[in-house]
Amino acid sequence: MDVLDLEPIKLNGVDFSQQRPVVIAGPCSAETEEQVMNTAHDLAKRGVKIFRAGIWKPRTKPGSFEGIGSEGLKWMKRVKEETGMYTSTEVATAQHVYEALKYGIDMMWIGARTTANPFAVQEIADALRGVDMPILIKNPVNPDLELWIGALMRINQAGLKKIGVIHRGFSTYDKTIYRNLPQWQIPIEIKRRFPNLPVICDPSHIGGRRDLILPLSQQAMDLQFNGLIIESHCTPDDAWSDAKQQVTPCDLFEQVLNKLVIRDAAQSTENIEDLRGQIDKIDEEIFEILAKRMRVSREIGTYKKEHGITVLQAARYDEILKGRIALGERLGMSPNFTKAFIEAVHEESVRIQMELMNGEKKA
Ligand code: PEP
Ligand code: MN
Repeated sequence: MDVLDLEPIKLNGVDFSQQRPVVIAGPCSAETEEQVMNTAHDLAKRGVKIFRAGIWKPRTKPGSFEGIGSEGLKWMKRVKEETGMYTSTEVATAQHVYEALKYGIDMMWIGARTTANPFAVQEIADALRGVDMPILIKNPVNPDLELWIGALMRINQAGLKKIGVIHRGFSTYDKTIYRNLPQWQIPIEIKRRFPNLPVICDPSHIGGRRDLILPLSQQAMDLQFNGLIIESHCTPDDAWSDAKQQVTPCDLFEQVLNKLVIRDAAQSTENIEDLRGQIDKIDEEIFEILAKRMRVSREIGTYKKEHGITVLQAARYDEILKGRIALGERLGMSPNFTKAFIEAVHEESVRIQMELMNGEKKA
């Protein structure tokens, strides 16, 4: 069994295990001194205690803004001095760690692309050896729980005990409403395995859109996450990275934080709201998968049309029906239910393919 030797993360005035969520906020990237200071003052005025800003940015393609670099750390130092907020940033190399330490950064996080790379995580762990500082580890871009836990272990084995995780969703090739699929069952499992590990949700990177920040944050609260890390920028539309998902400090409070319903964490997980929250999430996932099945079905329809094959292939349908009923039974579901379900799904697939054959527009 994997073991972590953890200590609670307690920065003065911020307790990662208390009921109200810990809020980490700030821009995706530090861009200019003015943007950093304006955003920071506005957030501090509203009560934010931990400021985030990316100094080195992992971008998908070269030529995008790759972060302001160490210059921005001077602004972070100013943020700390002028507002009293704790400062945090992403580190991806040993050099980043040394630079961040030099400028008094209070908390570091490991980004999703880095968590996916054990060599990089080990390099960071080695650079942090002997440092007593909270480290948050984002999930790897791919939905691999063991890889995520492996990163936690590497940091922990370097002697760091104030560790938390950030759930920022998982990359997918499919188009969905999310920039990164939440796949809540993965952070739920990490919470189950490590009950003392603070779990923070990053609705900005999961949703990729401003309007998804509130519903995602609410879901995280209903799943008893310990906090939120939300991208906030004084003029979000002008942001040099992740413009669509950033909100002003004012909107962060008026449109998100003040609208969150925080339920009593003392209630057990058997609590009905909690269970309903889980059902909502599961249904959402079922629907995403069903929609994907329909897309594949449509592709098969196109193939059939191009090759002059009939829509209904009786033998194939029989095989599906029998196979799925057997699968359902193995998973403890009644044959009647599985049959009705797969018949409804198949009926819709046939309808889609018939429409294609007849050259009609998709529904
Ligand atoms: C970020 O927090 O700005 C960031 C780059 O996030 P992620 O590593 O989750 O993509
Ligand atoms: Mn970002």
